[in-house]
Amino acid sequence: MRPRDLHRYLNDVGWLQSPVPPDAAPPGEPLAAGGSLDSLEALARSANGCDLCRLSEKRRTVVFGEGDPRARVMFIGEGPGADEDRTGRPFVGQAGKLLDGMIFAMGFDRAEVYIANVVKCRPPGNRDPKDDEVACCAPYLDSQIDLIQPAVLVALGKPASHRLTGTTKPMGAMRGRWSTYRGIPLMPVFHPAYLLRTPKAKREVWNDLKMVMARLQAAE
Ligand code: URA
Repeated sequence: MRPRDLHRYLNDVGWLQSPVPPDAAPPGEPLAAGGSLDSLEALARSANGCDLCRLSEKRRTVVFGEGDPRARVMFIGEGPGADEDRTGRPFVGQAGKLLDGMIFAMGFDRAEVYIANVVKCRPPGNRDPKDDEVACCAPYLDSQIDLIQPAVLVALGKPASHRLTGTTKPMGAMRGRWSTYRGIPLMPVFHPAYLLRTPKAKREVWNDLKMVMARLQAAE
């Protein structure tokens, strides 16, 4: 195991409480509205130096996102929780374990997809991100999508689905229905944290993910 992987493992299991992930990009200039950058590395540097909204004041780490930069499917959640803020990685808590299972059931490994969030810094107390925070973070997510160019986007839960569909419909009315974001097919599904509270909704998520798998196969 490389030292960096060991450090990450010890962080994940809670033995180390590193405030900065060992491979975090050095801080750069924040990305203003309408801005874009031409590599994920430059984007991560910019996010690490971002102080455009109040979420930057209380964060421990910027949770930029991770995965295959050429992933065919990109999952987008709402924002980091405590575990993610501590480790600098998206979806590493209980909801993350469920997401890993969903990804595996689709025939992928976590490293083969890309996972990001609508906001890159933890909303205090795990509240939903506010509209102005989502707006400040929009150039980061939009640039990630443009650079990765996945075949399909999967929005996890309400904040991500609202942000990407541009509507404020209830989750039940959005899930299972295709729309398009930045020219890419988009499927909203229930958030894994909701599935932890409502296991019977797993059936609907599985039906939605089967539609995603069919779409990926058709796009091959
Ligand atoms: N929930 C999210 O939406 N994103 C994470 O990274 C973790 C939990």
